[in-house]
Amino acid sequence: MKTLKFGFLLSLLLFVIGTHGQSTDVHITVEKLTPQMYMLTGQGGNIGVYIGEDYVFMIDDQFSRLSLKIKQAIKSITTKPIAYLLNTHMHGDHTGGNSNFNDKTTTIVAHQKVRERLIEENKEVVSTNKLDSVTAYKKLPEITFSDAMLFYDADETIMATHVHNAHTDGDAQIYFSKNNVLHMGDTYFSSKYPYIDLNRGGSVVGYINALKKASILANEDTKIIPGHGKLSNKKELENYILMLEAIYVSVKKEINAGKSLEQVMANNAITAKFDATYAWSFISAEKIRETFYKSLSK
Ligand SMILES: [Zn+2]
Repeated sequence: MKTLKFGFLLSLLLFVIGTHGQSTDVHITVEKLTPQMYMLTGQGGNIGVYIGEDYVFMIDDQFSRLSLKIKQAIKSITTKPIAYLLNTHMHGDHTGGNSNFNDKTTTIVAHQKVRERLIEENKEVVSTNKLDSVTAYKKLPEITFSDAMLFYDADETIMATHVHNAHTDGDAQIYFSKNNVLHMGDTYFSSKYPYIDLNRGGSVVGYINALKKASILANEDTKIIPGHGKLSNKKELENYILMLEAIYVSVKKEINAGKSLEQVMANNAITAKFDATYAWSFISAEKIRETFYKSLSK
């Protein structure tokens, strides 16, 4: 009996540590892309890190519980301070650590819709006491842009460009012209069907257009950081566009033939040749057909 009780207390203790402390199971992996740039993976959206002359420029910050580990991972590369943290969009697996990074040396930058949507989200979590108002305030981007924004550092130019109604309504793609690295946020899920957030301004047509915009910018040597999935390149990006365009044509045809959402969701043939490569736990074959139908029948 005593051991059972001890076992229970131990698991309770581990649960408390696991939920309130730093997550012990997630390891932050650092992948060097160029002499100045790195991709960090852990849990949530892929992080981009640029080591400039005097400072670090960082893209996305995963979840709040991982902030300490992410900071340690960056410290293992450089002692320079993080001057800018850019959010590719508002989702919590890309902005969750904002309040932990937001201090007197780090300025958070994002598209204006990211700020607007985070303000909306804050109202809810603050009113239900899930978050205090000071932390909620620190989560918000301090500088916003509408179409594009440029950052200059020695001979590097960093271009943050907004793409309309793609994954959400506040997406940015960030291109480092000298390093030839492109961070696409969630406007690209490499080797996975995309999540398109139709409730937050995302759309299938906007998503495909955003991918095309990126493929025009990229060349054969460009290293592409997707929002999720492994490091990618132009060739894979082009195949990804062809895949989404093929599904677009098939679903559009079904809609024009008067098929219902249920019929399209049940019709495996529409995505059959792509499922083995692109279907995954979060976006199954059925889910991607549902997303396409709902977006294209609007
Ligand atoms: Zn997202």
